[in-house]
Amino acid sequence: MTIEFQENISLKPYNSFGFDVSARYFAVLDNAGQLPAIRDFSQQNRVSVLFIGGGSNLVLTADLDQLVVVNQIQGLQMQDNPDGSVSVTAGAGEEWHPFVRWTLQQGAYGLENLSLIPGTVGAAPIQNIGAYGVEIKDRLSFLDAFDLETGESVVFTADECQFGYRDSLFKSRFPGRYLITAVTFTLSREFKPVLHYGGIDEQLRQRNIDFPEPLQLSDLISDIRNTKLPQPAQIGNAGSFFKNPVIPVDQAEKLKHEYPNLVLFADKSGYCKLAAGWLIDQQGWKGHRQGDAGVYAKQALVLVNYGAASGVDILEIAGAIQADVYQQFGVMLEIEPRCYP
Ligand SMILES: Cc1cc2nc3c(=O)[nH]c(=O)nc-3n(C[C@H](O)[C@H](O)[C@H](O)COP(=O)(O)OP(=O)(O)OC[C@H]3O[C@@H](n4cnc5c(N)ncnc54)[C@H](O)[C@@H]3O)c2cc1C
Repeated sequence: MTIEFQENISLKPYNSFGFDVSARYFAVLDNAGQLPAIRDFSQQNRVSVLFIGGGSNLVLTADLDQLVVVNQIQGLQMQDNPDGSVSVTAGAGEEWHPFVRWTLQQGAYGLENLSLIPGTVGAAPIQNIGAYGVEIKDRLSFLDAFDLETGESVVFTADECQFGYRDSLFKSRFPGRYLITAVTFTLSREFKPVLHYGGIDEQLRQRNIDFPEPLQLSDLISDIRNTKLPQPAQIGNAGSFFKNPVIPVDQAEKLKHEYPNLVLFADKSGYCKLAAGWLIDQQGWKGHRQGDAGVYAKQALVLVNYGAASGVDILEIAGAIQADVYQQFGVMLEIEPRCYP
């Protein structure tokens, strides 16, 4: 099917902050066969391409003089392997949470802790989504992508994606170059739940559950998330606005000595991860509001748009938080969502 290119389209329905900026050119992609036409259009009109999925990790600060392409490539496939694992491939435009639920209903386990993360399958590798002790890198086998530079299809294995904490080659090294069209995961027929993280075990005790069923665990994690995070349909947001800073152990130990309640976790060898939300909270930002931009009252890590805030308003608060935290703790917070233009 041919792809339709439109002009001056509002992106308000396409980003979870609800920022009202427009795209100079706009198209919806529903099959990989349309990719060469997108590349041709961008070259002919001398505009770069911005692929988006659910728009749940974006800060749009002004109108975009680009071709914005919303990825809606669908498709689900599952195949059992001789070693007892299951290979599951999803089109990049599939919505993440329904996809996770589908895998569990099919008896393929491993993604349950990533329940209720907004967005699409194709965006999940961009920042190596993670929650409750699991990251997508732990389950991803390979992905298919289209290279806008060469016009060719490419396959990346998990190793080649260079995954890091909320990071990948697609985010840091080649932003905007590859459109992910499908992602293949290796899941398990055996349910081996990860229960030690983020209050899951306590919730299980409260519900008198010794060992949860897979869908029960997905529900429980969804319930925990709903108590902590605002629903974008009600209050615009992009989830955690800052990454948890990773600092050398000796710096973390000095801070812990000065601030005994500091929340930190061991990370890779020689490094510690600090809870960014704790640092922000100590500086009294939780619930702060400037016009329609603010910091969520229940979670200092989440910046929110109460209605008419712009991306610039949100970045202004973010900058003030970064300066404040740096002055107090000597730690620079890094913004997690992608900012455009
Ligand atoms: C309430 C809330 C809770 C959240 N919780 C978590 C969480 O627990 N853990 C976590 O890791 N994240 C979390 N997020 C962030 C977000 O859900 C994820 O980053 C998600 O993967 C973004 O998907 P998306 O389709 O909305 O991507 P978009 O916001 O549309 O795009 C994000 C980036 O990916 C690029 N991109 C999108 N699709 C493609 C593609 N097919 N090919 C190439 N590039 C592409 C875009 O250009 C952009 O740079 C949360 C967000 C919200 C709003």
